[in-house]
Amino acid sequence: MNIILLGAPGAGKGTQAKMLQEKFLIPQISTGDMLRAAKQAKTSLGLEAQKYMSAGTLVPDEVVIDLIRERLNAADTKQGYILDGFPRTVSQAEALANMLKAIGSQLDLVISLDVSEEDLVNRLTGRRTCSQCGAGYHLQFSPSKVKDVCDRCGAKLIQREDDQEKTIRYRLKVYQDQTAPLVEFYQKQGILKKVPGTGSLEEVFGRLSSIVSKL
Ligand code: AMP
Repeated sequence: MNIILLGAPGAGKGTQAKMLQEKFLIPQISTGDMLRAAKQAKTSLGLEAQKYMSAGTLVPDEVVIDLIRERLNAADTKQGYILDGFPRTVSQAEALANMLKAIGSQLDLVISLDVSEEDLVNRLTGRRTCSQCGAGYHLQFSPSKVKDVCDRCGAKLIQREDDQEKTIRYRLKVYQDQTAPLVEFYQKQGILKKVPGTGSLEEVFGRLSSIVSKL
């Protein structure tokens, strides 16, 4: 089961991909998470990526393609995976297709999670993450019990540097220009399903689960 979750920043890809991972027992692979981990570990890749990420622009294709190539070689991907945040450009999608072809594999499904721009901005500006364990919160939709403190581990909650409103608007434009063309790219291959990303987490998850269950 090789799946891509497409969608603008804030569409809920990360949260839904983690829920799908639990239910279908295949790993969620997020290039954003991998790049943030590299940044935190201060590796040369992380330091390089930081420049792009804090500006809200895309990290160069070669960098993320190499990351994904290595990740898809790991044993835990043999039963499938959910790609979250990759591919983000047509060149990345073409590189992925070549990678899969070379190992006799293919994509089974691409899901596009659709959410209006106004909702995306609301979701992203309220997003908070635990600085230690990575647990996700939202000021409005899923607040922590004590303001700015993680319910799970007690560490401080932080706002992602790229979740400031100005950067968000820019990231949404980058999405429209560079990533949205992938909807048509996969539509032409007949493997794209559009899913409304509005409603509660459970409602969206119900829609996704029923599609994935049919694979
Ligand atoms: P995300 O957590 O998926 O929203 O990604 C956060 C940031 O990481 C993006 O704004 C980009 O700077 C970078 N990034 C993540 N995935 C990719 C990708 N596939 N291609 C280029 N840049 C990426």
